[in-house]
Amino acid sequence: MTVKQIESDVLIIGGGAAGLTLALKLANNFSIRLISKSILREGSTLYAQGGIAAVNAPDDSLNSHIEDTINAGSGLCDPAVVRFTVEHAAENIQWLIDQGITFTRNTSNSPLGKYHLTREGGHSHRRVFHATDATGKAVETTLEQRVLAHPQIQVDEQHIAVDLITTQKLGQPGNNRCLGAYILDQGNNQVDVYRARFVLLSTGGASKVYLYTSNPDTATGDGIAMAWRAGCRVANMEFNQFHPTCLYHPKAKSFLITEALRGEGGKLRLPDGSRFMDHYDERAELAPRDIVARAIDHEMKRLGCDNVFLDISHKSADFIVRHFPTIHARCLEFGIDITREAIPVVPAAHYTCGGIMTDLHGQTDIANLYAVGETAFTGLHGANRMASNSLLECLVFAQSASKQILEQQDQPSINAEIPAWDESRVTDSDEEIVVHHNWDEIRRMMWDYVGIVRSNKRLQRSQRRVEMLKLEIDEYYGNFRVTNDLLELRNLVVVADLIIRSAISRKESRGLHYNLDYPKTETQLQKNTILVPENFAAKKLE
Ligand SMILES: Cc1cc2nc3c(=O)[nH]c(=O)nc-3n(C[C@H](O)[C@H](O)[C@H](O)COP(=O)(O)OP(=O)(O)OC[C@H]3O[C@@H](n4cnc5c(N)ncnc54)[C@H](O)[C@@H]3O)c2cc1C
Repeated sequence: MTVKQIESDVLIIGGGAAGLTLALKLANNFSIRLISKSILREGSTLYAQGGIAAVNAPDDSLNSHIEDTINAGSGLCDPAVVRFTVEHAAENIQWLIDQGITFTRNTSNSPLGKYHLTREGGHSHRRVFHATDATGKAVETTLEQRVLAHPQIQVDEQHIAVDLITTQKLGQPGNNRCLGAYILDQGNNQVDVYRARFVLLSTGGASKVYLYTSNPDTATGDGIAMAWRAGCRVANMEFNQFHPTCLYHPKAKSFLITEALRGEGGKLRLPDGSRFMDHYDERAELAPRDIVARAIDHEMKRLGCDNVFLDISHKSADFIVRHFPTIHARCLEFGIDITREAIPVVPAAHYTCGGIMTDLHGQTDIANLYAVGETAFTGLHGANRMASNSLLECLVFAQSASKQILEQQDQPSINAEIPAWDESRVTDSDEEIVVHHNWDEIRRMMWDYVGIVRSNKRLQRSQRRVEMLKLEIDEYYGNFRVTNDLLELRNLVVVADLIIRSAISRKESRGLHYNLDYPKTETQLQKNTILVPENFAAKKLE
């Protein structure tokens, strides 16, 4: 079998909002190879319901958006990054409109302006642009069409990145620089070398490390694990956001009920119909997600019930169907008519606030390697992401990264020889069960011990278990041919380890990280958790 060496100017790994935007912004000047481990559109972006935050209402202001973001982030947002993101929001919404995305509008002559803006937890104003309740689908499918039609972009679906190729790995002296990646073609099970002058990670988050998640199967933290192995620093992995309201039904796989439903008046109720959020926060249902998720977790544990309920049935059926057509239709499939009854809901892992450390241009610690979107840690979200700021982050940082890459258009490539993938010492697996068992074990362990509410004892238990799992998975990886499941498992265990180490090192409760043994927020601990890999060499970021 001949191993392919595939060359392009730019290699983009991941085809969500971040990856598609990067591709479109660079394609007129570079040859682009975009790879996606599933079909192109499968990723978190497709499932985003609520929308994208940008100041537009007459009574709103940039300062108010900045202030709300910083408040949600519990002292850890980087104010310069927040300002940068918020200031670039409007032009990126306009870019989406120019690409053909149709945001929901107000009726003509509305004093509130052309676009209907919704409100979500943490936002003090209506500022969320949306395409009814399927904003992500509109973004993903529109950008996907444009990418597929562009002559300079070659898309390889069902291709999964295995590892990054760097000068350090090839034993070359000097600044560590990224040269490409090894990619498994799931069609013929062959690992090929993809060589590029610029490599962009846009692989999304890592919420699949938890048993219950709102994320699709792709969210296994591959980019974070690959960058860590290649020598990049990773930050704030203890801050995983749990969405308070996922549909609770045995047949509904991770279906989220958008926060906008609470924004439009939805009430949380216990099984006896009583409300409870006002006991926890004066903003009640509109408190930030961490507060709502913890309140639900507490009530479920207190009452020993499997779920609570989210009720919008007091609004007119016409209003509900107009504003939430997707949720209405999906719930009906499970026999729940949300115009007449409350929706059973539970919290689920939703968003990875931490990730690969980058600067304002998505540049990582390794030269010519960029990370954009949920895989990156930019400093925007701090200890808690405010709703609808994440798609915005994908767009703004794809824009700034592409600008910087365009400025380096004349940079020469490196002619290092890259060895083919070595399969001489591996065989086909005779024990697939190990992969499946360890997948389940990691996800349950993370849910039980490193979930919404943590304690020192639970974290120590998880640390002992993850050490053992790391050894087993490494051994398995060294002996058997790689498959999609094995690669994801290898990445999940790295991500689990990074989350546990970060959670153990934070000896306080802050934002999304809540530890029963340190229930208070400590002013002197108001800093990011930065993990440095052993092979960290070039310190590109200041
Ligand atoms: C249900 C749900 C609702 C949400 N609602 C909102 C919202 O209303 N507003 C908002 O701002 N945010 C929302 N979010 C969060 C937001 O959708 C995500 O943060 C954002 O879409 C991430 O985009 P991305 O491009 O970084 O990653 P994704 O869209 O997840 O795309 C990742 C891509 O990388 C690919 N990939 C991963 N690993 C590999 C690999 N090893 N090799 C090759 N390809 C790989 C995947 O196949 C996929 O194509 C929501 C998330 C979910 C799950």
